[in-house]
Amino acid sequence: MTTIDYEQFYIDGGWTAPATDARITVRSATTEEVVGHVPEAGEKDIDLAVEAARRAFDDPEGWPQWSPDRRSAVLERFAAALEKRGAETARRVTVQNGMPTAVAQQFEAGFPALLLRYYAGLVAQTPQEEVRPGMLGGSSLVARQPVGVVAAIVPWNVPQGITFLKLAPALAAGCTVVLKPAPETVLDAFLMAEAAVEAGLPAGVLNVVPGGREVGAHLVSHPKVDKVSFTGSTAAGRAIAETCGRLLRPVTLELGGKSAAVVLDDADLASNLESFFAATLLNNGQICWLGTRVLAPRTRYQEVVDTITGLVDSLAIGDPLDPATQLGPLVSARQRERVEGYIAKGVGDGARLTSGGKRPSGIDKGWFVEPTVFADVNPASVIAQEEIFGPVLAVIPYADEDEAVAIANGTEYGLGGSVWTADPDRGTAFARKVRTGTIGVNAYVNEPTAPFGGIKASGLGRELGPEGLAPFQVYKTVYLDARA
Ligand code: NAD
Repeated sequence: MTTIDYEQFYIDGGWTAPATDARITVRSATTEEVVGHVPEAGEKDIDLAVEAARRAFDDPEGWPQWSPDRRSAVLERFAAALEKRGAETARRVTVQNGMPTAVAQQFEAGFPALLLRYYAGLVAQTPQEEVRPGMLGGSSLVARQPVGVVAAIVPWNVPQGITFLKLAPALAAGCTVVLKPAPETVLDAFLMAEAAVEAGLPAGVLNVVPGGREVGAHLVSHPKVDKVSFTGSTAAGRAIAETCGRLLRPVTLELGGKSAAVVLDDADLASNLESFFAATLLNNGQICWLGTRVLAPRTRYQEVVDTITGLVDSLAIGDPLDPATQLGPLVSARQRERVEGYIAKGVGDGARLTSGGKRPSGIDKGWFVEPTVFADVNPASVIAQEEIFGPVLAVIPYADEDEAVAIANGTEYGLGGSVWTADPDRGTAFARKVRTGTIGVNAYVNEPTAPFGGIKASGLGRELGPEGLAPFQVYKTVYLDARA
């Protein structure tokens, strides 16, 4: 089998030899075979990338000084170059992390170009400076300026989609970026770098240096970085926040979740199973905002458990490159061990397994685990409190809406969520009471124009919408004397 191999990093607008011989080996989540190799960045490579981004930012005629329209033209070319590679991007992501191909088409092939165009348009169409009449006789010129060199660190679960939650607003704002992809998903990042070369991004505006957590930590604390934007686990987010706190460096953190999918007593779940699946099990359960705690009214408890069990039993498990597949493998052997550990914990803690719990029979390769449903889950138990990051649902009974709100709010997280009801107004009223950054009524969709992010241990700050542009800008005030 042929492998996809890269020998150099995309740094300073071109391909640059790595400082060491260290390599990342990439395996298929489905076949476990080696599918590619790329150089692994060490501290020297990170330093080179940050220096390039710094030079590009500090250039008196460089990217931040360009008009929004001029930047927008480059970002349009970048979007077109990504679209040209969309099918191959989706394929590489699916091979690496097991994302079902239909999901990859949407999040990995389509979403990045859409975000580039959205943010380029937003910056070009919104005045970045205004003059405010003052109260003391003069006026103030208030300008929004790019924050500087951005360190962007992303996980493996939705690698390109998450990359562009950061790149699109950062580049549109006039920042320069050093991107560190996760080692599990690097082949898509190199394809994205090829698109950047084709689009003619000026030297140093974007630099891509994959590696593990040590080089990630080096990048976060690099003295020439101005802003950190991180998506990943809460544990890593806390470590990064500590560093940024010490350095007084602005940081955006998109972290873990344990969101609630709340079925109200009037819901017709059976007729909305596609949306329910998307809100609870998409991408093999490997999405931060999924509603993996299902809250069901005691009056209809067994019926809800049966409906969800029936849904899970009907899922097509297999090769994620097959368009009919709904559930593929997990990203790695390590991730499967973690998920299996949680399943054993659920059984040990007395939850009732109604579906799944094992590796699927008849599939002897790939990091598969059956989609799994636990009923009668104690809301204080480990499988109801900790993020599993796999296809495991915990169904928890509640007596009335007040108790449902209390259970929904009863974890350290607050990222996503959903409410299922025949009455959208009732759903919206319930949604207002849930302490979370985002929540859907009868569906959950990451809408590009609205802010996305978490509260509590799910993170700090927002991505998407105009709110997702703001973290890449700083205000500058110029006081104008009345006599001027
Ligand atoms: P992870 O935190 O282990 O790694 C994420 C990225 O951070 C990787 O690139 C990794 O190399 C890097 N990293 C790890 N420790 C670091 C450190 N101390 N300093 C700098 N970089 C470091 O997470 P993961 O297991 O790869 O991803 C899954 C996690 O990501 C889940 O918890 C999930 O909920 C979360 N996630 C959150 C969102 C969101 O938007 N809130 C989206 C997707 C994933």
